Amino acid sequence: MSIEKLKGIVLKEYQSGESSKKIVVLTGEKGKINLTVKGGKNTKSKHLATTQMFCYSEFVVYEGRGFNSVTSTEIIESFYSLRNDINKLSYSAYIMELLEKTVFESMNCEEVLKLTLKTLWIIAKTDIDVLLAVSIFEIKYLQLSGFFDEGDRCSCCGNYIEGEAFFCSDDGGIICGKCKKSANRVFALLEGTYKVINYVLKSNDNRLFSFKVSDEVRCQLRLILEDYVAEHIGQNFYTLAFAKSCTAEEL
Ligand SMILES: [Zn+2]
Repeated sequence: MSIEKLKGIVLKEYQSGESSKKIVVLTGEKGKINLTVKGGKNTKSKHLATTQMFCYSEFVVYEGRGFNSVTSTEIIESFYSLRNDINKLSYSAYIMELLEKTVFESMNCEEVLKLTLKTLWIIAKTDIDVLLAVSIFEIKYLQLSGFFDEGDRCSCCGNYIEGEAFFCSDDGGIICGKCKKSANRVFALLEGTYKVINYVLKSNDNRLFSFKVSDEVRCQLRLILEDYVAEHIGQNFYTLAFAKSCTAEEL
């Protein structure tokens, strides 16, 4: 039993008992961690504003046998402005659900945490195209999680891509014209889509989000990434279905 300080983003919150709540937090050093916030459902709780979804907070945690309880919290960034735009809010909630369902406990997530903070910041505080920001997040996150190889080689035969590039979720992403012949469910990549995937896979700095794309490229990115996530993660994301319904209403 010990006391520990952790920094992390609240991915999910849910009621636990009459007045307490549990939160799932993404931390850099410990991956996903479940914390109990005693009295956290109470509107007068001192932890109310620091333990909501999207909050990046510092938590002082009491580690008991089989449970971790929050004893004090301090907000670092609330990303509150996400709540002023249904499109930003719903796609950011999808990012939280994707992480909650795929990050393991006790796994080093320093890079994933940095990427998530950067993505939430850019969505909350700039007028970036939200669908593009989510696509960039997914490509980078899938790469960090080992689901995406480098983009200039065929993920099937390993040869450099020459000429047209294709995308096949079953075969691990970008494939060449030769391998396409024996693959199922293949998308012919637009040149712009191929460039975006390659750029994001190679970029590791603040320029990750510094470009724009055409509507066609943005649509194709959504199509192939949703297919890829469904194929490799194999879960239903309620938040994504909701986010897509909001986007459809806006169009
Ligand atoms: Zn190939």
